[in-house]
Amino acid sequence: MTYREIYEEGRNSLADAAIGEAALDARLLLEYVCHTIRNDLLVHGDKPVTEEQAESYRALIQKRAKHIPLQYLTGEQDFMGLTFQVNDKVLIPRQDTEILVEEVLREPHDGMRFLDMCTGSGCILLSILHYSNDCQGVGVDISGEALQVAKKNAERICPDGNITFLQSNLFENVTGKYEYIVSNPPYIPSPVIEELMPEVREHEPRLALDGTEDGLYFYKKIVEESRNYLVGGGRLYFEIGYDQAEAVSTLMQNAGFAEVTVVKDYAGLDRVVHGILLG
Ligand code: GLN
Repeated sequence: MTYREIYEEGRNSLADAAIGEAALDARLLLEYVCHTIRNDLLVHGDKPVTEEQAESYRALIQKRAKHIPLQYLTGEQDFMGLTFQVNDKVLIPRQDTEILVEEVLREPHDGMRFLDMCTGSGCILLSILHYSNDCQGVGVDISGEALQVAKKNAERICPDGNITFLQSNLFENVTGKYEYIVSNPPYIPSPVIEELMPEVREHEPRLALDGTEDGLYFYKKIVEESRNYLVGGGRLYFEIGYDQAEAVSTLMQNAGFAEVTVVKDYAGLDRVVHGILLG
């Protein structure tokens, strides 16, 4: 078996299983198993793979054919130019969420305190801390298993960072005051989850997706309670679903936030809402 032959076998299996990016995923899994780069397949496609490599590759292809997300098989996802470890206890970091981080990074000064509510893999908090100076961060999640992942990411991405992870149902165990509260909470309305692609619906943690009946449960709770944990003039940043800008902006305005602003993603969809708590 050569690189090319086994790759073609993998690609065909994934295409038969109606995996959208069959060719890409077959190649990335080959690179993962054989530690090769793209060029190896193009230039050294006739090189033989070992028996063990072929076996591991086929096992992964079988899993991917069952719609297990690629990132749960390779155990990683890039986000903000950093590589995050992931498993099926955390949401896979999305490119859309980079908009939230980029918006947050416009403002901070050295030494600020950030709270990331529903931190998951820690991708938001750790990117902010990585790209700023001397800031402190607290990452909160209800899931202890998610926090294990976030802690591992912190050790690799911000080894000297001033970071604490806290298991808490929203603000239940949170103390202190923060200049920034950021959150990408679960926001998909429960009935809509059934319409999502199987990769998300069947394999990503429902706890990280389900925003209850109207998708707004966590926004309401976080807007309400963040007042007690923000300094005067502190800022609240949310990622939102494409059709939630008005609802979330209204929640924030009614709770006393000023300069409530909606930011679009690169697809032109509303993606972030942020505002300032008047002191
Ligand atoms: N903060 C994490 C992310 O954006 C997890 C979000 C979540 O669990 N809803 O990927």
